[in-house]
Amino acid sequence: RQNERESLLIALNFAKTYFQELMQKTDEGKSIGLSYFRERGFTNPTIDAFELGYSLDQWDGLLQEGTKRGYNPDMLEKAGLILRKEAEGGGKAKTFDRFRGRVMFPIHNVSGRVIAFGARILKTDKNQPKYLNSPETTVYHKSQVLYGIYQAKQAIRQEDVCFLTEGYTDVISLHQAGIKNVVASSGTSLTTEQIRLIARFTPNVTILYDGDAAGIKAALRGLDMVLEEGLNLRLLLLPDGEDPDSYVHKVGADAFKAYIKQHSQDFIDFKASRWLTEAGDDPLKRAEGISDVCASITRIPDLLKRQTLSQRVAQVFHVSEQSVISEINRLLRKQQ
Ligand code: ATP
Ligand code: MN
Ligand code: MN
Ligand code: MN
Repeated sequence: RQNERESLLIALNFAKTYFQELMQKTDEGKSIGLSYFRERGFTNPTIDAFELGYSLDQWDGLLQEGTKRGYNPDMLEKAGLILRKEAEGGGKAKTFDRFRGRVMFPIHNVSGRVIAFGARILKTDKNQPKYLNSPETTVYHKSQVLYGIYQAKQAIRQEDVCFLTEGYTDVISLHQAGIKNVVASSGTSLTTEQIRLIARFTPNVTILYDGDAAGIKAALRGLDMVLEEGLNLRLLLLPDGEDPDSYVHKVGADAFKAYIKQHSQDFIDFKASRWLTEAGDDPLKRAEGISDVCASITRIPDLLKRQTLSQRVAQVFHVSEQSVISEINRLLRKQQ
């Protein structure tokens, strides 16, 4: 088992280097892959730090090169790098590369080893997914991984906060702008394992999801989970239609940092302001909002924190602290 793990990691490292060399040294790689990243504003040090690459637009480039170098096709398949299709009618099975004609984002574990890839098509094509990711393998369990954690962990400790984004390019562009304490959940909804991974480096998380309906929904979904793990949570909504990548390119690093400072909210303000806007003068809606914020507070394991936050809820909704505490206790009893 240990041997298989190590073999897969070695195969994945070979693939990473292969994709890097294709992008840096071949005509196709330079004119398509590298120029795509250039258009997105990625500099050489950034491309190196994230070990970005390119996969050729052909069926079996990696399979051929891998076989030539002595990698067993079974191993390449177990690593998620090639696919095998059984032929209909019992003919010979076909094997071919999983990633073709895409820019490649290696996914590293905390210690910096490549365990999987994300791969983006260059032109939008309705018949193909924008991003294609490695499947689950012996070394890659996507629910346990945060993209960028290896490049971010030192900065997360130093800044004592982790910015959590949605996508690969959000991590990369913020890193390039000097904001290095950033990771992404990369398309999966946030998991408890991912939150525990952050908790190894800091108790503070700020969610920076895309400013669209999907981003808001994902932020609300992740919120209680972060609280349950005992972490302190702030949230920031970017202007509609922007994500951290597009926004930092638009306004620059300093303005981006200022925006986070000014507009990030703790989870109470984040939830309350949405409820207060929706409720207006409707007392029932306000009550619903108080109950919803209280429900999130019941997720927090620490009693003292819960008490302090109850005061805040009372202030924000202009109700007595006692009524907030009663509501929290009612919800806690219901959960037992
Ligand atoms: P880009 O800026 O390159 O268009 P993005 O990161 O802004 O990409 P989003 O559409 O905001 O892309 O999606 C956020 C993340 O969700 C992506 O970075 C990727 O990890 C994941 N994702 C998006 N589309 C897909 C898909 N079709 N299949 C799998 N994962 C996807
Ligand atoms: Mn989005
Ligand atoms: Mn996005
Ligand atoms: Mn984007």
